[in-house]
Formats: sequence, structure tokens, C-alpha cells
Amino acid sequence: MAKQQINLVWLKRDLRTQDHLPLHLAETAGLPYLMLFLFEPALLQAPDTALRHLQFQYHSIADMNRRFAPVGRKVTTCYGDAEAVMRRLLQDFEVRTVYGYRESGTQATWNRDKAVKKLFDQEGVLWQECQRDGILRGARNRAGWDKAWYAAMHQPIVHNTFGTASAPDWSHPFLLPEALEASWSVYPDAFQPAGESYAWRYLHSFLSGRGIHYSKHISKPLESRTSCSRLSPYLAWGNISVRQAYRTTLDAMKAMPHKGPYQNFLTRLRWHCHFIQKFEMECSYEHTCINRGYELLPYRSDEAALEAWKTGRTGIPLVDACMRCLHATGWINFRMRAMLVSFLTHHLFQDWRAGVYHLAQLFLDYEPGIHYPQFQMQAGTTGVNTVRIYNPVKNALQHDPSGAFTRKWAPELHRIPDALLHEPWKLSALEQQLYQFQPGLDYPHPIVNIADGAREARDKIWSHRKSELVKQENRRILAAHVRPKQNETP
Ligand SMILES: Cc1cc2nc3c(=O)[nH]c(=O)nc-3n(C[C@H](O)[C@H](O)[C@H](O)COP(=O)(O)OP(=O)(O)OC[C@H]3O[C@@H](n4cnc5c(N)ncnc54)[C@H](O)[C@@H]3O)c2cc1C
Repeated sequence: MAKQQINLVWLKRDLRTQDHLPLHLAETAGLPYLMLFLFEPALLQAPDTALRHLQFQYHSIADMNRRFAPVGRKVTTCYGDAEAVMRRLLQDFEVRTVYGYRESGTQATWNRDKAVKKLFDQEGVLWQECQRDGILRGARNRAGWDKAWYAAMHQPIVHNTFGTASAPDWSHPFLLPEALEASWSVYPDAFQPAGESYAWRYLHSFLSGRGIHYSKHISKPLESRTSCSRLSPYLAWGNISVRQAYRTTLDAMKAMPHKGPYQNFLTRLRWHCHFIQKFEMECSYEHTCINRGYELLPYRSDEAALEAWKTGRTGIPLVDACMRCLHATGWINFRMRAMLVSFLTHHLFQDWRAGVYHLAQLFLDYEPGIHYPQFQMQAGTTGVNTVRIYNPVKNALQHDPSGAFTRKWAPELHRIPDALLHEPWKLSALEQQLYQFQPGLDYPHPIVNIADGAREARDKIWSHRKSELVKQENRRILAAHVRPKQNETP
């Protein structure tokens, strides 16, 4: 018997129903189509995956299914490696075209895509991959990139409608294991709720007032929780497209007397794609210093210090508060992310690779294309960016002067007055008694002297910048990843 002809939409980091070109192409192609999302065991084991990411994906799909319910559609979820699932699908159907977005993923997803592409080519299946946001495939440098980004943002938004094409019945053996599904289907209240519906609620509340102090509070760990857009998990898992966020903001700005904060927000939407473009062009950012010269910088390896950093027990209040907050909520603002990386790679002088997966797992908004390039930039291994060593005490005094954020996440310090909160090691014996605080018992002694750690790191990193290999790599990086204007040496 002839197999049924179908098309397929392979969903990845695009868990939404609107402004979705692959869904539109499938809907109008005139064949029944499946919408498929894969939970891939090999990727579930990868060091950058965490339960919270799977929970976010699971609940994003649940939200899509609620939206599809009126037209009787549903996303098909499979637990299986991509090649095996696709092979089975090709056994059961005559798959004509697979629609999806290009993925700027890790080496593991790139290798998986290559294997699947080979299979599709052998079987005569067309794999039509659409451009994701403003990210270009095959670009060798940044000439014309900004122009192309603005052009992508001003392309018409795709208004998806559903109903004309039917869904094929497919009974498959790739069912989600019950125990896994049980753990994904719960959703911690402390995380931002997942899905397209919430993405829009967050964007609307940001534009209708929440973002008024966006620029003023962007570096403050407490205030930024409300004044930043908090769109990052929705953009990372594709609950909303960058274009939708960009255009909705532009529209809203027409009626705003003070556009400044929202203009800054729009700039960051471009940064979103700018960083992913780096990773799209060089996914070795995950494993290797982008400036190969920094492979020769001899870092220390201190397991105890690393563990203290990971668990928020370094004895430096702001560092610990940020790490604990991340464990509990999955989000912290940009400045505090940068400070956490700086503390690890500068003050503790640990190799950036020792901590990169830890934060990837904690970030609910983990986006490889932003994460690895940002991590290396903050660690100072790009060679082309200024090395910023963030002093956690100065940052605390500047951005959490009342200590409200620090006390929330390091409650063992709650009795210590504001003036001493961020440097509890400075308490005199009398003050320790007065505030019933025993250093080393109630809260760890600091694992590093901040001033000494920063000085040593600065000397080592800056003197390393003079090495021939670093300079040679700088030229390569500037040519590939920096816009031509900035690229010109003065
Ligand atoms: C070491 C490190 C790792 C990071 N890893 C991630 C990550 O895995 N995923 C992620 O989305 N962001 C990452 N960021 C960037 C940034 O911290 C977050 O995007 C931002 O804090 C998210 O909050 P928001 O959505 O409220 O941002 P807003 O300030 O409201 O900005 C809106 C959007 O613009 C983009 N954006 C904002 N700042 C940046 C930036 N500096 N670089 C690139 N894009 C930006 C994000 O998509 C963000 O959602 C990282 C930063 C550092 C220093």
C-alpha cells in the first residue's frame, strides 16, 4: 500500500504559534503535516541541559496545544534521538518536506543536524530551513549585517492561521517516559511561567509602565527584576520572535513621551542576534578560547573554591546572593551575571570552562548563542574586548546599597547593618557580639581577598595580551566578528 504523503514541521527553539514561517509554509503547502518536537536523550544528557529547561519546553508546548485546541491540532512530542525518530517517520510516511528554523546550536546539535540532513538527502526529503530572527547563515564577516538585521525586523509579521490542513495519525514508539514527564510537568512557582501567552503578558506589562526605569535600574539586582523586560526565556525558547518584540515596542513607543528606555531595549534586541551570529559562525565558543592565545594562560584549578562559587558559599555576600537567587529563580540581571563570571575567572582565577555549564544550567533563558560568547567576553578570553574586573563589594554598594537583595538571599547576614553588610569580614569582635554573628559559623570566611585577586588577575591577563598569538588571533576575530567601522584600526 502506498504510504501517505505528509510534510513535517520540526519545532526546536521556536515554541510559538504566531510569526512562525515554517508553520505557515506547512499550512499552505496542501498536504497533511505533523508538528514535531523531540526530547532527545543524547541532548538531555548534555552538560548544558537542566531540568528547568525541559520544564520550560514542556510547558511552552502545553501552551501551544491550548492555542491549537479549537482547531483540533496538537504538537507531537517524541522521546528519541532525531535520526531514529526521522527514520521511523520515513518508514511510516512519504515525507515530502521538512520545515523548520535554522538552529545556531552547540556542536552536539550541529552534528545531529548533519546526520539528519544526510538521511533526508538519501531519502529524497527536502529540508527547508528558514532564517531565525536576524541571524544569517554562511556569513563570513559582519559587512552589511546590521542592515540585514533591520531588514529582517521590518519584514511583515507572519499571521498564522490553522485549520485548512489536516494532521496525519501517527502511532509511534517514542513515548515520553512517565517518570520524566512527571518531573517536567511540575513547574516551580519561582520560575517565570513558560509559553507564548506569558511572553505577551510580560511584553505588554513592560511596555505599559514596568519598563519606565529600565535604563536606570538595569544594573540593580533587585529593581531590574521588575524594570527589565524579562523576555529572555521567551526569546530563548522562541515563545516570541525578536521581530514581534521589536515591532510591538516600536508601535508602543509612538505614544510615549519618554522613549529613551525603550530605545535601549530595542538596542538589546539587536545584541541578542549579534551574539547569536558570533556563535552561528563559530560554535567552538562553547569549548575553546575564541582567541586561541588564551589557551596558554595558566589558570589555577581549585575544586573547593569552584564548589563554593557554585553553591553560593564564597563568603562574599553579593556573589553568594546572586548565585543563590539563580538557583531559586533562574534569572539574574546582566551586570550580576558578568560579575559572577568575573569573580570566577578573575578573583578565583579559574578557567572559564569550569563554570560555563553551571550557569548554562541555572539560566532559565539559556541561549547558547548568547551564553558562550558573553561568558568568554566577561572572562577576558576574546582578546579584543576590554577586560572588566567587577569588584563585588563596589557593585554591592552601588547597586544594592540598602542590602535588600543581599539580605533576601543571604538571610544569615540579616542583622548586620547596611554599612558593614557587604564586608562582614570587617566586623570587630564587639560588633560580632552585638549582631550575634560568628564568621565561619554563621557565614563562610571570604575565600579570596578581593583586592589581591583582582590585581593578580589584571597583571596576568594584560601581560598575556601582549603575546604574539593573542595579537594574531585578535586580527582574525576583528575581521570575522566585528562590524567593519569598529574594525578599522585608528
Ligand atoms: C555571562 C553571561 C551569560 C549570559 N547568558 C545569556 C543566556 O544564556 N541567554 C540570554 O538570553 N541572555 C544571556 N545573557 C545576556 C543578558 O544578561 C540577558 O539577556 C538579560 O539579563 C535577560 O534579561 P531581560 O530579558 O530582562 O533583558 P532586557 O534587558 O530586557 O533585554 C531584552 C532582550 O535583549 C537581549 N539582551 C539583553 N542584554 C543582552 C546582552 N548583554 N547580550 C545579548 N543579548 C542581550 C536578551 O534577549 C533580552 O531578553 C548573558 C550575559 C552574561 C554576562
